[in-house]
Amino acid sequence: LEDDEIETSEVQIFYKEEPECQNLSQDPCTPSVASTCTPLKPRNYQLELALPAKEGKNTIICAPTGCGKTFVALLICEHHLKKFPQGQKGKIVFFAIQIPVYEQQNSVFSKYFERLGYKVAGISGATSENISVEQIVENNDIIVLTPQILVNCLRNGTIPSLSVFTLMIFDECHNTSKHHPYNMIMFNYLDQKLGGSSDPLPQVVGLTASVGIGDAKNTMEAMEYICKLCASLDTSVIATVKDNLEELEEIVYKPQKFFRKVESRTTDRFKCIISQLMRETESLAKNVFDELGTITLENVSQIQNRNFGTQKYEQWIVSVQKACMVFQLPNKDEESRICKALFLYTSHLRKYNDALIINEHARMKDALDYLKDFFTDVRAAGFDEIEQHLTCRFEEKLQELESISMDLSNENPKLKDLSFILQEEYHLNPESRTILFVKTRALVDALKKWIEENSELSFLKPGILTGRGKTNHNTGMTLPAQKCALDAFRTDGDKKILIATSVADEGIDIAQCNLVILYEYVGNVIRMIQTRGRGRARGSKCFLLTSNADVIKKEKLNIYKEKIMNDSILSLQMWNEAVFKEKVLQIQIQEKNIRDSQEKVELVPDKENKKLLCRKCKAFACYTADIRVVEECHYTVVGNAFTECFVSKLHPKPKTFGHFEKRAKIFCARRNCGHDWGIHVKYKTFEIPVIKIESFVVEDIVTGAQKLYAKWKDFPFEKIPFGSP
Ligand SMILES: [Zn+2]
Repeated sequence: LEDDEIETSEVQIFYKEEPECQNLSQDPCTPSVASTCTPLKPRNYQLELALPAKEGKNTIICAPTGCGKTFVALLICEHHLKKFPQGQKGKIVFFAIQIPVYEQQNSVFSKYFERLGYKVAGISGATSENISVEQIVENNDIIVLTPQILVNCLRNGTIPSLSVFTLMIFDECHNTSKHHPYNMIMFNYLDQKLGGSSDPLPQVVGLTASVGIGDAKNTMEAMEYICKLCASLDTSVIATVKDNLEELEEIVYKPQKFFRKVESRTTDRFKCIISQLMRETESLAKNVFDELGTITLENVSQIQNRNFGTQKYEQWIVSVQKACMVFQLPNKDEESRICKALFLYTSHLRKYNDALIINEHARMKDALDYLKDFFTDVRAAGFDEIEQHLTCRFEEKLQELESISMDLSNENPKLKDLSFILQEEYHLNPESRTILFVKTRALVDALKKWIEENSELSFLKPGILTGRGKTNHNTGMTLPAQKCALDAFRTDGDKKILIATSVADEGIDIAQCNLVILYEYVGNVIRMIQTRGRGRARGSKCFLLTSNADVIKKEKLNIYKEKIMNDSILSLQMWNEAVFKEKVLQIQIQEKNIRDSQEKVELVPDKENKKLLCRKCKAFACYTADIRVVEECHYTVVGNAFTECFVSKLHPKPKTFGHFEKRAKIFCARRNCGHDWGIHVKYKTFEIPVIKIESFVVEDIVTGAQKLYAKWKDFPFEKIPFGSP
């Protein structure tokens, strides 16, 4: 189950609202036509959702993805700006978390309000440098922001108080919790509200598809959770569609959800043979580690209890590979030989692991082809002694693997089921459009080939879509390639199916489709509701296909949680508004007391100088007295002694954030360690290292006691600002 947890967090997908222009008119119009649809007519349910906010109440608007919440926000803003008498003016701030959403909203608001004579401006992290936020807020009626910008301005005083605004709108407002920038803004608001200031506070409106219920197990707990969210946003009304449900359901059709429990292969010779090859390769790698003496294959990574053919094994092998890449030895020839050997063993192990995952979810033939392609590439490149040996071991088994994969009795029962669903659905509706979600990039390729080579399915002409890759990896589909694939799926009538991995958090709009197939997928309740937003054509269906009973159990739990959430909202809506407001106020007071008492603890830092040691090899890195804090949340080390302690490698994904330009990653310089310590950046005119406390052990100089901290904010030492002597 633990392994399963990792798999789901790895493949989590978050969807954004589709372009809201599609919802601006009663007539269904395509995105390209939508920009010319200027005479806008709100739907009745949109008017219903906007009503409490138009009455000036702090509101959370909770309505399904794709129903046009942005248009509701436009209605509220227009009403808000127009209600001020001559000589007074309203000022609105709209928050968006993701850059693509920010850009989309900025352009929708600009188009809508410019014709009404209001000024709209947007500031995102990328544009915030060298401009005066104060001036922009002063000179515009509506400001679209990424929330961190306002957090920074409130902190450094460029915006003295939220009283400059008359209305704040939070998109995806369910994020207002813990230390999210949304909550930081609301802490400021609530301090002003509870602190007895007489300055007027802005109205607060939140938009979301799902408020969520956290870990709640019943309606009572869910109501508590939702009340807490309302307290965070100072909400007095939760607006949902009630009077115009039929109209809403015309627009946002709820797809039918089907669960299909399928059986895995009963015997799996392929897995036995590949696992044996993996054990052999692991032991060859162990021999290399024995030469080093200082560390072993088992303690080089923190990931424990790995199994062949799992995503956890993949994570383990990647972390081992990374650690091996930066081993340093006094004899440079030795170093090169050892690093290369380990690189080869780990790459082969990774490919074998991929093959096991492909075999589990696709055809044996696909897994075998994947390995054969890999070994062909190996032959074509260096092909040194180690590679020759590994290739030889594989080829000794090849004949047997070939014959197993040809044996029809080894066919994957899951694919039979998938094929059955696809044939059935395309028989019922030949115009169906399908998105098939799978776990890994390699599976995308395998299933594409399976469809193309399956005479009964080859008419589907599959396209593929994979993520842009994590910040620390250099793989993945580029943005133009993604756009190209999506365009083809949207416009080419022949391409009926798109096979995708997690398009995680990247704000891509996927064309509407009426069939969503989740191949071993599960996630939290918010994600489930948003997945539903994909298949919104009438008659759309969603299939969850899995051989793991736990996956179905989890998804059923999610459905149950959604029901609890809806029941809780209904109950809360029946409360008397004054009673609800009082309940919210009590939570706010309680939460503020907790916040204030926590701050007091932080106010007493331990001024005693301490040592930072590398968490992996315990080598001395620096003293806390040499640490300086940059812009309150980044930590650097001053003095030349420290530069001797680390080595740097060019960053695979250089990136600029605020005044920082990320250039390199830094690692422990101690022989055979190479532990990841952080990054090297250009900050204004300085070249400085930025370290993370999770890479170090803190040692008390007097007592010798050692402590671990996961986050800098948990580590109470005297924090000296950068630039101080
Ligand atoms: Zn080290």
